[in-house]
Amino acid sequence: MAYKRIATEEAFATADQFRLFRRLLDEGFDDPGFQSLWGFYLISEAERPKKIREQLLDLDARRIADMNATGIDVQILSLTSPGVNPLDADAARALSVSANDEVAAAIARHPTRFAGLAAFAPQDPAHAAKELERAVNRLGLKGAIFNGHVRDEYLDDPKFWAIFEACEALDVPIYLHPTGPSRGLIQPMLERGLDGAIFGFGVDTALHALRLIVAGVFDRFPKLKLVLGHLGEALPFWLFRLDYMHRAGLAAKRYDSIKPLKRTISDYMRENVYVTTSGMAWAPAIQFCQQVLGVDRVLYAMDYPYQFVAEEVTAQDALAISPEDKRKFFQGNAERLFKLG
Ligand code: CA
Repeated sequence: MAYKRIATEEAFATADQFRLFRRLLDEGFDDPGFQSLWGFYLISEAERPKKIREQLLDLDARRIADMNATGIDVQILSLTSPGVNPLDADAARALSVSANDEVAAAIARHPTRFAGLAAFAPQDPAHAAKELERAVNRLGLKGAIFNGHVRDEYLDDPKFWAIFEACEALDVPIYLHPTGPSRGLIQPMLERGLDGAIFGFGVDTALHALRLIVAGVFDRFPKLKLVLGHLGEALPFWLFRLDYMHRAGLAAKRYDSIKPLKRTISDYMRENVYVTTSGMAWAPAIQFCQQVLGVDRVLYAMDYPYQFVAEEVTAQDALAISPEDKRKFFQGNAERLFKLG
């Protein structure tokens, strides 16, 4: 092979995480997105959710066999959505630490096959910053994973910005992974079964990323690197209109909340954001993203185990791009962004 296949958005769970999620479900935790997602995946005895539970918990032979069967050389592991976000602060702090220890141990057992991103407790940004430093500097993790809103709060609120400050100082990327849409967004989606990965995840995550941009997170932290899955959650397709309407809204002083930015929205998308192909093994969309963001900013991801399809790997092997660009796509961009090897 002319390149290694490094898959960059690959999920795992811990037994502690499942136990805590189960407790939230038993207590009737009032979050329709969480109930929709984990009320299905953790409880259902249908074949798909049962298999996914087993795959999420395995960080050894079974996972590596699945990687071998689909030609994946390396998985970059991240704690499955919504990570620690729905928990109270005490449980979130404890689970972030134990999950980071568990993934670091798995990487130590299989150092050529796994790398990992660090969980953190956004409920306690000071603890999160310290845990990210521990996870990167002592455990060797390669970035941070954050799983969307935190009980309906988005991370553009400056009270969370110590997390971005830590990622910028550590020079590691932060991966914004979807979760079920927040309470204010989800109801019309639930009514038609559109709240999950089919659509709602992308809407909530694109909104979250845009909120970070227009709130000025990247003006405050200009070297911060944000990773979006699912080909940027459709944001690359919106860039022209986002720039036009942001400029128009500013000129008209339509909203107090729209502030001037140092760069355009598309500049931040091209200069601070990387996108991965998780769940989007579709050549026209991949090549569109390469065209508008640059070939250095589009990375391969599978989205194991939720979308574990061998034909999707071969479809991306067959992308009509140069051998050099294909090597960047599957290997080089990930090695550079996550400082692998
Ligand atoms: Ca995923």
